[in-house]
Amino acid sequence: MAKTYDPNNVFARILRGEIPCKKVLETEHALAFHDINPQAPTHILVIPKGAYVDIDDFSARATETEIAGLFRAVGEVARGAGAAEPGYRILSNCGEDANQEVPHLHIHVFAGRRLGPMIV
Ligand code: AMP
Repeated sequence: MAKTYDPNNVFARILRGEIPCKKVLETEHALAFHDINPQAPTHILVIPKGAYVDIDDFSARATETEIAGLFRAVGEVARGAGAAEPGYRILSNCGEDANQEVPHLHIHVFAGRRLGPMIV
């Protein structure tokens, strides 16, 4: 069953320009901006412009063009972020059990230091 998208979530408001963000990249299908509470020297969020709750919703409903657009933006951001120290981590929380706070799909990009082993 399709998940219900809340059009007033904080990232939807950023996309509408109602809340400011520190923009890193904007393309036809994606927006990337710095996380407000960074967990690494570089912590960027990449979001699709379409209304998708999470990766589950996105992978089921998004067009090939939207999917390519999001992941090309992730790659571009990650290459930039990882330029000084060529390594980075990408992550996306999906749903309550994964502690997803904002119900608009976002891909975290962490870089800028040696990242420890992934802790789940
Ligand atoms: P998640 O737990 O995966 O849903 O992550 C949500 C992320 O959004 C957290 O890392 C927050 O710090 C970040 N966040 C929440 N509000 C904002 C905002 N207005 N601008 C930038 N990042 C935000």
